[in-house]
Amino acid sequence: MRPLNAQLPDTNATGGVYYKETGRETEVFRHCFREKLPLLLKGPTGTGKSRYVEFMAAELQLPFLTVACHEETSTVDLLGRYIVKGDTTEWIDGPLTQAVRQGGIIYLDEIAEARPDVLVAIHSLTDHRRMLFLDRHHEVLRAPDDFMLVASFNPGYQRGYKELKPSTRQRFVTLSFDYPGQSIEAEILYGETEIDRAIANKLVGFAARVRGMAELGLAETASTRLLVDAAKLIHSGMPPRLSCTVAIAETLTDDPEVRQSLVDLINMTF
Ligand code: ADP
Repeated sequence: MRPLNAQLPDTNATGGVYYKETGRETEVFRHCFREKLPLLLKGPTGTGKSRYVEFMAAELQLPFLTVACHEETSTVDLLGRYIVKGDTTEWIDGPLTQAVRQGGIIYLDEIAEARPDVLVAIHSLTDHRRMLFLDRHHEVLRAPDDFMLVASFNPGYQRGYKELKPSTRQRFVTLSFDYPGQSIEAEILYGETEIDRAIANKLVGFAARVRGMAELGLAETASTRLLVDAAKLIHSGMPPRLSCTVAIAETLTDDPEVRQSLVDLINMTF
């Protein structure tokens, strides 16, 4: 059988979407797609999960829909609803129904945050049936071959994030995302912003120190996303210290002492 990752170089910019591979995740995606297995991405915010799915959709030339789930997200939001039009009602597909009808990749970001009925509604889509039951519309849809469900969650059990039940977890193949190694992270900063490589290295060195400082008590630490933001500001001509203060220190904390510790570290770095 043809190796699925054969045509993928290490670093890719597909359809205008840049993604730097950090492990073997593109290979995993291709096999899951081929075998019609749903995929769950777990890891902290800002580690490239959304970018990865967007990139894979472009790479596979498939339509791509994202739903950012939150505590109010219900099946109605995902499946669809009737709306009143004059003196009749009209059914409007939700994004999940749309994706099942047309094929392609749907990404349910932070799925654990959604209401429990959402997890029940996707059960039949995540097993061999690959069916979606639109009870309100008296319709049953079977997903086409090129439909794939991808979801993400942040397993931050100490920080008040919601958990996913084992019975839901076991319906997905799972890929773990984390902060990349320093050379890969510097490469990402360069790929995203074309920032000077020496500054990219300083930024990732700074982030590595912050991530190692558990005593700061940060709810979430310096992510690749924040480094990219700082790198963009620096690249646009802002001084590095100011860029890192507003893009990283102020974003991570409102505690004056913790903020000062971060600013001190920024000043030591630049
Ligand atoms: P998540 O979905 O995990 O919260 P995102 O996919 O939104 O994170 O990533 C945040 C930002 O970090 C992206 O917009 C991109 O600039 C950058 N990024 C992180 N990882 C990568 C990667 N491997 N390749 C390219 N960009 C990345």
